[in-house]
Amino acid sequence: MSEILKKLREDIHFIEGMNSCMNCGVCTAICPAAEFYNYDPRMIVETVQRGDEKEIENLLKSDTIWYCGECMSCKTRCPRCNTPGLIIMALRRASQELGYFVYSEKGRQQYALKHVIGESVLKRGYCVTPDLVKPEMHPEQGPVWEWIYEHLDDVYDRLHSNYRKPGAGAMREINAESMQELREIFNVTGGTEFMNHIEQCSRDKAKETGTDLEESYFLKTYMENSNNHQ
Ligand code: SF4
Ligand code: SF4
Repeated sequence: MSEILKKLREDIHFIEGMNSCMNCGVCTAICPAAEFYNYDPRMIVETVQRGDEKEIENLLKSDTIWYCGECMSCKTRCPRCNTPGLIIMALRRASQELGYFVYSEKGRQQYALKHVIGESVLKRGYCVTPDLVKPEMHPEQGPVWEWIYEHLDDVYDRLHSNYRKPGAGAMREINAESMQELREIFNVTGGTEFMNHIEQCSRDKAKETGTDLEESYFLKTYMENSNNHQ
């Protein structure tokens, strides 16, 4: 059995999500992502079920597996009790582990996610904090956000959030002991190693394309949109 199929069949998401598909298309009919993207969960399940290694490899290198919103609407309707959303989780994992995610525009965004959200969790214990939502990178936030961004401490003080300060409050500084525990959880569960792997694959890709990882490559993965996805 090929390495890809072996990986998939060992993944708990795949084991839970894949029985046998009769190709009825109900999952595609219910899928919100299929309404917006060039995306068809029925075809993904079909491809995986066929087991053609080359076809699955192409899928792992494509944008397709990154369109799913993981809403799990497909689970509720499949007459064969498949869950395409879980199968897609397993495909994403295989794509990350095998380094195939760097082949597609949506896949390369793994680096932006790791760099922003992953590192923020390890540094501060939050996925996203307001200072990460830079106005120049988030024009969709509009001019009001620009003003808030320039006055973050004042604004969050007025909301009693205790932003970046010790003590209680929704956006308080997480204490050193809790942060140490959180990092330890990442270490023992393989999360840190996995993030390092995403970093290394992205570093190799940046080198291959002659781009600086933390500046140009990061911005490209964060901002790039070829508009070829609908
Ligand atoms: S709804 Fe279930 S059986 Fe029908 S195509 Fe989707 S996965 Fe296959
Ligand atoms: S989990 Fe993914 S494939 Fe399933 S309905 Fe939601 S977006 Fe579509």
